[in-house]
Amino acid sequence: AIDVRALQKHYGSFQVLKDVTLSIAPGRRVVICGPSGSGKSTLIRCMNGLERFDGGELHINGLAINGKARRLDLIRRDVGMVFQHFNLFPHVSILENLMIAPMKVRGKSKAEAESLARFYLERVKLSAHADKRPLAISGGQQQRVAIARALCMEPRIMLFDEPTSALDPEMTREVLDVMVGLAGDGMTMVCVTHEMGFARSVADEVIFMDAGRIVERNVPDVFFQAPAHDRTRAFLQQII
Ligand code: ATP
Ligand code: MG
Repeated sequence: AIDVRALQKHYGSFQVLKDVTLSIAPGRRVVICGPSGSGKSTLIRCMNGLERFDGGELHINGLAINGKARRLDLIRRDVGMVFQHFNLFPHVSILENLMIAPMKVRGKSKAEAESLARFYLERVKLSAHADKRPLAISGGQQQRVAIARALCMEPRIMLFDEPTSALDPEMTREVLDVMVGLAGDGMTMVCVTHEMGFARSVADEVIFMDAGRIVERNVPDVFFQAPAHDRTRAFLQQII
């Protein structure tokens, strides 16, 4: 579960998160959308301990995450994250990309890490590419590797920050297919994305952020058909 209470964050005098309150039960799938600069990335980066915050509370599976002294090791054990840019290690094979964190962070043996890596590579349909370097495969394939790499840590929560926005439509489809599969597994997912087809088919809830606040949240049917706020309507008109 993710529990965010009155979260605040400033960059100097600029307030990027203004009292964000949100709780996400285990197994729920939540899509976050909103204009550029509204604080979406900042919010989910706080959920992974990548970003400090200066007010409010954040609990991940009951673990209090302090804005200052964060137990990153404990957070990372439960929370996987996939970014817009895949951030794979370029100088090692795809298989090794998947094995590094389970060995270093979770203390898996080499054999255990390899078997996990092969399992999740199969899951994203990339077994045939295990021995290649990341730059030898397409962007969509690299993003699927990034997803498999996060899954190898066996997180209970997966965070996605615009995982397809750097990809062309065909590659976007491949990556969304993998994400739809994960959603079917009952994993807790929080996805920042403007892929509204994905939101409609997978999300339990869609959240619209603007200027550091949650403006509106609802089940997809209502969110898309009858948004309550003008800002949400204007945003949806722009992107659909
Ligand atoms: P996008 O859709 O463009 O990814 P976003 O909703 O993810 O936008 P954030 O990246 O969370 O937005 O940024 C929110 C605001 O905080 C923006 O105005 C941004 O300029 C500002 N900001 C983000 N990171 C920093 C930083 N390191 N220093 C100062 N300001 C920052
Ligand atoms: Mg962002």
